[in-house]
Amino acid sequence: MKAKVLVVEDEEVLLSTLKFNLEKEGYAVATARDGWEALEVAGAEKPDLVILDIMLPELDGIEVCRHLRRESVVPVIMLTARGEEIDRVVGLEVGADDYVTKPFSMRELMARVRAVLRRVALDREAAAASTRDTQVVEAGPVSIDAGARRVRVRGENVELRPKEFDLLWLLVQNRGMVLSRDLILEKVWGYDFPGDTRTVDVHIRWLREKIEENPGQPRWITTVRGLGYRFEPG
Ligand code: CA
Repeated sequence: MKAKVLVVEDEEVLLSTLKFNLEKEGYAVATARDGWEALEVAGAEKPDLVILDIMLPELDGIEVCRHLRRESVVPVIMLTARGEEIDRVVGLEVGADDYVTKPFSMRELMARVRAVLRRVALDREAAAASTRDTQVVEAGPVSIDAGARRVRVRGENVELRPKEFDLLWLLVQNRGMVLSRDLILEKVWGYDFPGDTRTVDVHIRWLREKIEENPGQPRWITTVRGLGYRFEPG
């Protein structure tokens, strides 16, 4: 798949030159001509990289970069003029990944673009590898780190009681299958548990409150009338 680059530049000639050269290198290109448009296009297009001019109408490049940083980790290469505050731009305050000073050669910029994208790809691979090691299972809005017994719902850590965790884990491992209350009781609480299947219903309700956006109309942990419960395959 082609990497997508968003170019934000108000000088038409430079913008079209950048677009032409990036496309020639095999990138998909989105463009914006001012700061607000940049944020709009970035939100809609989800680029893999942003090339961002500092001097822009409306919102300048520094503000755009700050806004981008609040919402995503997309790498940013700034186009700066000589004498602009490079340290601030690439430092923590603004958070750009790299910069080139105008006037620059296309060759130089393309080399920076390749380098930044390569680094991001390597970071992603490393993150994916470490996820595999800890065996995080994703199911709908839920991600479960079974080893650490940690659960995230829509990206947020959620505290589960031990039995809630066991119940969720059972449902997710069998997602798409209907599990009867008796089976759940046996697997989660064990044969000798003195309680009855209402224990299961109560724990299902607690789980829904923690996982469902609308616990009254569950989308993930559904009731199959007369049979039991199912974690929807999504
Ligand atoms: Ca400009």
